[in-house]
Amino acid sequence: MAVATATYQEKTDEQKAITEMVRQFVDNEIIPVAEEFDHEDKFPEAIVEQMKELGLFGVTIPEEYGGMGLDLTTYAMIVEELSRGWISISGVVNTHFIGSYLLMKFGTNEQKDHFLPKMATGEIRAAFSLSEPEVGSDVQGIKSTAKQGDDGVWELNGQKMWVTNGLGSGVVFVLMKTDPKSDPPYKGMTCFITEKEPWAEKTTGDFEGLEIPPKIKKMGYKGVESTELVYSGYRCSDDRVLGGAEGVGQGFVQMMDALEVGRVNVAARGVGIAQRALELALRYSQERKTFGKPIAQHQAIQFKLAEMATKVEAARLLTTKAARLKDAGERSDLEAGMAKLFASETGKEVVEEAFRIHGGYGYSKEYEIERLYRDAPLLLIGEGTSEIQKMVIGRKVLERNKI
Ligand SMILES: Cc1cc2nc3c(=O)[nH]c(=O)nc-3n(C[C@H](O)[C@H](O)[C@H](O)COP(=O)(O)OP(=O)(O)OC[C@H]3O[C@@H](n4cnc5c(N)ncnc54)[C@H](O)[C@@H]3O)c2cc1C
Repeated sequence: MAVATATYQEKTDEQKAITEMVRQFVDNEIIPVAEEFDHEDKFPEAIVEQMKELGLFGVTIPEEYGGMGLDLTTYAMIVEELSRGWISISGVVNTHFIGSYLLMKFGTNEQKDHFLPKMATGEIRAAFSLSEPEVGSDVQGIKSTAKQGDDGVWELNGQKMWVTNGLGSGVVFVLMKTDPKSDPPYKGMTCFITEKEPWAEKTTGDFEGLEIPPKIKKMGYKGVESTELVYSGYRCSDDRVLGGAEGVGQGFVQMMDALEVGRVNVAARGVGIAQRALELALRYSQERKTFGKPIAQHQAIQFKLAEMATKVEAARLLTTKAARLKDAGERSDLEAGMAKLFASETGKEVVEEAFRIHGGYGYSKEYEIERLYRDAPLLLIGEGTSEIQKMVIGRKVLERNKI
């Protein structure tokens, strides 16, 4: 065996510098105020403004459009840090990141030139909309439609559900059925780039035909709004079909591609929330005494901490692997599914163990772990539930191991 052939490096110098910068931002600007925003369910505008200044809305957008041009791996590291502070903050960035990915990968040159510079600065923020009141996992079952008129303009009708950043966004990437008779259904689906006035509950003028009902009241994941979107005669010119004329009928494939990077992003959020829960448990268990010693000295608690720390590390490694494969241009659907499944379940499990370690205080709103306990379950649902990840993983492992 060769001995000490190379130094072990988890991050490049650039990744170390940027994650350190984000960690400081999170420690100074997010963690001290997260409870207040959470309890009031208030949008963290001042934090979002600072994130714009730091360039965090343009991390993956190429430099030619004013972004940082960084890869998915670095982005995942940033998301972990933001989620360690408050997952709602990563929620503000997540749909924006997916929207910019869709544009970078499938947009026409005109669409990229028009949207990406404003998205890189955060001047406009993006939302991403597949789900409907009756459809989440089974995306091919959506009912919203878009029909092209003789003048070439598309008319969008239908109700969308659970749209993160649904009110504050200036652009929504929305999936519609353009050929309801298509068999298989996914071939008759198209993604539209719908523009709107940020924070307006009802659109007017050029963007008329979209209503945003009051935000959905949630158990956790407060601060960032989740809304319905009601399209009713919303007119969308044909140059706002993602990818132009060639994009008609490609929406499902485009959105599923974007979900692959979205899953890495959710995995990174799982790692971030689990990391924070572990930190809180490590601190509390060394402060709290029972039976004459800190609870961290009881073996039962040490075993909990050992399992928590191991799971966080494993989740981080799976997430990094999925991101690195994608950056290398290789297929990463299996790995992204595994990372999403394991890291989101780890988020929930580690948070629950940290909650137990806090005893009765974990149940008090005075303690941060109470917020984490309400926030963590979202990660089991968004970007495909754990059951759906298992379906993807099962299918892929069989495909790759055919006999
Ligand atoms: C806070 C929040 C924010 C969200 N943000 C967005 C957003 O920005 N954009 C967007 O488009 N969507 C968003 N969603 C929606 C989310 O993607 C869906 O909730 C999710 O995909 C699950 O769909 P569903 O809720 O309709 O559950 P369903 O699809 O009805 O599933 C219900 C249950 O059945 C299970 N199930 C379904 N099918 C199968 C099967 N074949 N085999 C085994 N089990 C199955 C599921 O795993 C789940 O346990 C958000 C959701 C939440 C809660």
